[in-house]
Amino acid sequence: MPRSVLILNQSTSIRPLPIAIIDGIRTTMDGKLPGAMSYYIEHVDLYRFNSSLYKNSLQGHLSVKYRDKPIGVIIAIGPGGLDLALELHGSLWPTAPVVFAAVATDTLVHKLPPGVTGTFIELKLANTIEVARAIVPNLRQIAIVGDRFEEQLYYRRFADQLPEFSRTVEFIELMGLPLREVRRRVAALPNSGVVYYIGTNSDPGATYTSAAAVLPSIVEVANRPIIVDSETLLGSGAVGGFMLRPYQIGQDAGRLALRILNGENPSDIPTTTGSNSKAIFDWRQLQRWGVSENRLPPQSEIRFREPSIWDLYRAQILVAFAAVLAQAAVISWLLSERRRRRVAEATTRETMSDLVHVNRMATAGELSASIAHEINQPLAGMVSNANAGIRWLAGATPDLGRVESSLKQIVAAGHHASEVIAGIRGLIKRGTEERAPVQINELIHNAIALERRDIERHHVLLTLDLDESLPDLIGDRVQLLQVILNLIRNAIEAMSPDRVQTLRIRSELDESRDILVSVEDSGTGIDQQNIGRVFEPLFTTKPQGLGIGLSICRSIIESHDGRLWVTSTVGRGSTFFIKLPRYMAGDGWQQSRKRS
Ligand code: ADP
Repeated sequence: MPRSVLILNQSTSIRPLPIAIIDGIRTTMDGKLPGAMSYYIEHVDLYRFNSSLYKNSLQGHLSVKYRDKPIGVIIAIGPGGLDLALELHGSLWPTAPVVFAAVATDTLVHKLPPGVTGTFIELKLANTIEVARAIVPNLRQIAIVGDRFEEQLYYRRFADQLPEFSRTVEFIELMGLPLREVRRRVAALPNSGVVYYIGTNSDPGATYTSAAAVLPSIVEVANRPIIVDSETLLGSGAVGGFMLRPYQIGQDAGRLALRILNGENPSDIPTTTGSNSKAIFDWRQLQRWGVSENRLPPQSEIRFREPSIWDLYRAQILVAFAAVLAQAAVISWLLSERRRRRVAEATTRETMSDLVHVNRMATAGELSASIAHEINQPLAGMVSNANAGIRWLAGATPDLGRVESSLKQIVAAGHHASEVIAGIRGLIKRGTEERAPVQINELIHNAIALERRDIERHHVLLTLDLDESLPDLIGDRVQLLQVILNLIRNAIEAMSPDRVQTLRIRSELDESRDILVSVEDSGTGIDQQNIGRVFEPLFTTKPQGLGIGLSICRSIIESHDGRLWVTSTVGRGSTFFIKLPRYMAGDGWQQSRKRS
């Protein structure tokens, strides 16, 4: 069998549909058989030339042309191509099998003789009606635009199918009209209509070369969506439809021709209906006409979809999203950390507050003897001054000057007693933390007043070395008093009467102009092992000790942005240092901070 294929195209070489079919044939067959393969292509243009005289002359022409060119298989494109092939076949190529392409069953005019096979296409009015209803839900009219049915090759049997549907749809036949008239009519269609463009191929003025070339001028003016049947018409303004896919049609034909050239008997290859048509739509037109994709036939293909921001920037969006997520995770972690820290701080403050109170109560308890003493003394003074005053008044000439001085001393003693009581009340009271300007020297005097009895009882030699020009600091009087009392008590407790006991309290401005208070004793000192531990909670070397005094002192000083530390030589004594920032005008301070 000769390795040659004659392609008989019913139309011309400038129409996209047959060109795509031929392309499908070529790509399927090329290189599949050993040796060279010849393709002969005849574009017979039956849309415009369809007289029997022309067909007879074609027969003579082709018989001369192919006299020396044996044909292995004929591929006929379109119903017109198949008709011609069957007419010429017997006289020109009686032995060459025929494969048809792009032919629908109902366009057959001849019964297929033996030696002819092919894959039918589906081109049914019912499909178009289905698509039209999907596009226009309240469909009432279908305006059919193109050549008259009788001049059509593909649609030549549609006239028979119209009555079946005309009960539900009105067909507006705009076929065989001059293009100008078509444009006028499609611009004024009812809202419930669509345009069905079946192709203008034989324009009387021959201005247009193909159905595809006419379409844009209809699109331009049509006021309703346009349905088409060929993939080659999609993309220039039609909304879509059940599409013939010419490339696949060509591939089907090419595969059959190959089987025949490989020796298969064409009569053994039954004709089939291919899956070469499909519902395909133009996304842009669906948007334009407001057609929802859900309404389209199942498995519809949507083309020309404009990429969304997501399609274009997927990677960037994902990275940004991940970054935001990571950031959110970090933020929520930080927030929860902050919450945990607050809770921890609150708990610590609570515990601290309890400890400070316990420590104060202990201090107040220890002070009770000196308190009694401090109160008794002014009371006794007041009584004796009052007696003296009475005596000075009782004389014949009352000495008013002396009376006045007695009264003044009573007032002074009263003030002293009330100061002592205020100090004690402050120690015992629990609650708000008061921040206010404080004179540290005044606190030292207060503390000594409270401790005086013990100092005297232990025969401690007290030296005060106070810088009277010290500036104020901002702090809580009661807490700071508590610290100084603690240090004085510890100092007294560290000294024993066997040796000279000196207690030296000094206040000054240090080189960084902070307030520095030192409490120095000549007691036991602290050995190297313990010096790092004296500020630890519950560290004590005393049989009755609680071991919380110094740890509380340090917390108090640190909460005042200061520092508390000790230097010591065993056997020589210890010096505790308190360093506190001084108050400078312009420093704001919180007057009262509520304890949680
Ligand atoms: P407590 O006095 O109840 O033991 P503190 O926290 O006030 O608790 O003191 C802890 C320890 O530090 C004391 O037990 C003592 O060993 C030591 N210490 C404190 N002050 C002095 C000091 N001035 N001289 C020597 N040791 C001291």
